[in-house]
Amino acid sequence: MSSVPAHTKHTKLLIIGGGPAGYTAAIYAARAAMKPLLVTGLQPGGQLMTTTEVENFPGFAHAVQGPELMQAMYDQAKNVGTEIITDHINRVDFSKKPFTAVGDEHTYTADAVIICTGAQAKWLGLESEIKFRGYGVSGCATCDGFFFKNKVVAVIGGGNSAMEEALYLTHHAREVIVVHRRDQFRGEKILQERIAKNPKIRVIWHHELAEVTGQENPKAVQGMVLKNTQTGATQNVAVDGIFVAIGHSPATELFKGVLDLDNDGYIKTAPGSVKTNVPGVFAAGDVIDKVYRQAVTAAGLGCMAALDVERYLSA
Ligand code: NAP
Repeated sequence: MSSVPAHTKHTKLLIIGGGPAGYTAAIYAARAAMKPLLVTGLQPGGQLMTTTEVENFPGFAHAVQGPELMQAMYDQAKNVGTEIITDHINRVDFSKKPFTAVGDEHTYTADAVIICTGAQAKWLGLESEIKFRGYGVSGCATCDGFFFKNKVVAVIGGGNSAMEEALYLTHHAREVIVVHRRDQFRGEKILQERIAKNPKIRVIWHHELAEVTGQENPKAVQGMVLKNTQTGATQNVAVDGIFVAIGHSPATELFKGVLDLDNDGYIKTAPGSVKTNVPGVFAAGDVIDKVYRQAVTAAGLGCMAALDVERYLSA
């Protein structure tokens, strides 16, 4: 049970979520004199807090650490006039104005809302997967593929993400082994054809990842144990990296029955925009994006949302 909120705070613009989308929305909104209030959630910073080196965010000649980048965004949002509160929102009511969000600490009312609650990569839950995460086990080929030049890597999964990651990784790796638990991919036919034609890709059907193996000092992946999903037989395969691509979960539990969501649980927005089905409520970042999922695209969507709110509030 959550505690009873201490008091109500009213703001013109409430931003829910403290990742790149939320902070960028806040920076634009604060500079437009909207005095935004941003609620970060209990683990501020989003997915970049568990990332090490970020080499693809523009503006950094050398890699920046994920948490460092998020701290810089936080500081910038605060310096330009955003009120930032750490709180856990438990319930929202967008059926009447002002909109309401109830947190553990406060109840927030707002004339407009931007939802930037993000998404989480799904993991298999293996102990060895956790142990080597960041040391050869990754959830993002675009982020980490570069570190596997001429190496052998595996991609676990059989959806669009897994196939796109595998194709992307062929630009870097010597060999890409796709491991799928069935004998058929779930994703688009065109990607399946590209996978079949690519000489660098080998598919191991009917197998799942049972264990990641590797060395200790320095920590590095050296192989994987695969288990046949039909016979239970296991085999060892030498690889330098493992990309887990079994889907993402958008953080939209709060908005079920409140906003229109798609079949995968992402918030639906009008084509080419960040407007939800409720006028005055906008959504930006990975909570609406299952295709690009980059810090820079999330930031771009956050910027769009702030500009749209400005137009909405002045209309
Ligand atoms: P997804 O479609 O849910 O696919 C997840 C894959 O991981 C499935 O092949 C599934 O196997 C496998 N999987 C799940 N749990 C597993 C486990 N515990 N062990 C082994 N394998 C497991 O996820 P996604 O590929 O991230 O795509 C999510 C949504 O985004 C989809 O609607 C997709 O079309 C969309 N998307 C679109 C694009 C694009 O348009 N370019 C790009 C990426 C994603 P099974 O097949 O056996 O269930």
